[in-house]
Amino acid sequence: MQNDALHSLMNLKSTAIQRKRMKKCPYCFEVVEEPAARCVHCLQFFIDSLIDADYRSLDKKKCIFCGKKILSEAKICRFCRHWLDEVNRTADDIDKID
Ligand SMILES: [Zn+2]
Ligand SMILES: [Zn+2]
Repeated sequence: MQNDALHSLMNLKSTAIQRKRMKKCPYCFEVVEEPAARCVHCLQFFIDSLIDADYRSLDKKKCIFCGKKILSEAKICRFCRHWLDEVNRTADDIDKID
């Protein structure tokens, strides 16, 4: 009986994963749906090849933390991973997602 309960629980879990492919943004660690070219939370692109082709035409700004060039509309720096619009966001907030 216990095994059956465990088995159905595992089935439930795998079904949920199959229905929506999710991944974690490497920059802001929010969960986003696949396939996504960019994160809906921090607006960073995931694909580096896209950056080579289209990145040049997009507006840039300097990260106020590390000084590297990032998208002007990005909410997070892809290099130092500091939030640019939510300075109050703490490491505790990020831990809650896990
Ligand atoms: Zn993100
Ligand atoms: Zn930075």
